[in-house]
Amino acid sequence: MSVVETVVYPGSFDPVTEGHMDIVARARRIFPKVVVLVAYNASKTGFFTFEQRVALIRESVEERGWDNVSVESHPGLVVDYLKACGHRLLLRGLRAGGDFEHEFSISLMNRRLWPEADTVYLPTREDVMGISSSLVREVARLGGELDEFVPAPVARALRSHFERTTHG
Ligand code: ADP
Repeated sequence: MSVVETVVYPGSFDPVTEGHMDIVARARRIFPKVVVLVAYNASKTGFFTFEQRVALIRESVEERGWDNVSVESHPGLVVDYLKACGHRLLLRGLRAGGDFEHEFSISLMNRRLWPEADTVYLPTREDVMGISSSLVREVARLGGELDEFVPAPVARALRSHFERTTHG
């Protein structure tokens, strides 16, 4: 029998949203430990830096008192992080519609890169399904209310970023 100790949840998290936080909240009740991994995504240009994204997730996790969740970053391949840390299981969230094909090919590629790697998925909760990092950035840019979509530290960071951009 094998017991999974740690699941690694990789993503861009630019920034972390209540959609991501819901996946983490549910995963931490299934697995003893969850590592949220801010990973490099070549097809996305960054808004927040790696360090800012890590800090915002850490603050959000601490604020909720989630003591079995840690936050790390890795600039290279996610499977290289797994190998280096002795973990094998990845976690991803699935929203209805577009995510499936994309997620499926990522998991196949990861397994080709390292056959020990496997991925589990949690389906999104209905009320956070429409939330994505890119939409949140757009709402913030236009001065919309953010509190429902992102944890408080993220809302504060977005507001202060766009206040600075607008007022000089
Ligand atoms: P990536 O650039 O690697 O796709 P994201 O930060 O956009 O990283 O997303 C990380 C993971 O979280 C992905 O598996 C994505 O499908 C999932 N995810 C994003 N938003 C939601 C949401 N609202 N509900 C559930 N899962 C989500």
